[in-house]
Amino acid sequence: MQELSLVSMVSIHRIKLGYVNSFLIKENNNCILVDTGMPKSHKKIVHFLQKNSIQPENIKLIIITHAHIDHIGSVKEIKEITGAKVLMHKIEAELVEKGDTPEAVLTNKLLKKIFSSTKREIAPFSVDIKVSDEFSLKEYGFDAKIIHTLGHTDGSISLIFKQKHAFVGDIVMKFPLLSGRSYFPIVANKKEKIYESWKKLIDEGVKWLYPSHGKIFPIRLLEKEMEKKKIVVKDFRD
Ligand SMILES: [Zn+2]
Ligand SMILES: [Zn+2]
Repeated sequence: MQELSLVSMVSIHRIKLGYVNSFLIKENNNCILVDTGMPKSHKKIVHFLQKNSIQPENIKLIIITHAHIDHIGSVKEIKEITGAKVLMHKIEAELVEKGDTPEAVLTNKLLKKIFSSTKREIAPFSVDIKVSDEFSLKEYGFDAKIIHTLGHTDGSISLIFKQKHAFVGDIVMKFPLLSGRSYFPIVANKKEKIYESWKKLIDEGVKWLYPSHGKIFPIRLLEKEMEKKKIVVKDFRD
């Protein structure tokens, strides 16, 4: 008897929304959208879907890496258009449900002198799936999981897809003018946790990082940076 093998077709798309990225992961006919850009970005996202012949209802999950305004700006509209479930870390889900967002704490001394830390008020929205630490997306039909990668904000999460691709929000950033070759974020409320989160991603066996600002790059660049700076992350697990 011949065995039927189902080959799954996966494609990953970067949707550029000004200076921030949103990502669409498509596996057969099911999609995940990672982040939604600034307010009013939904039009660009819908345009992207139309151009790629993707039905809005094929988006099953909207995963929000963290609740800064450039990531949650269009959640409400995209949720209405797609009917997808919104997933966030529970710390930040509790904030947005009250119309609040986490503070953006600058790590760069020069920027600190120019800008005060910002906190934005938003129109509240409800979050369907609130995660704390590791969370599998198997029941939603994806070989993927969420891990908690704090440091940029307390409720920052990363989506690891097929153990290889990690959508990491702002836990890494590359602004050559301000931080040279470093991937250390220029905004971080817990600086000391950033390298722990990088180590977590490395230990997961991730190969490719999909940051919210800038281009996709291999994780070995983070390993190199930690080696160069002689960063040793002690056992941070409980
Ligand atoms: Zn951010
Ligand atoms: Zn951002």
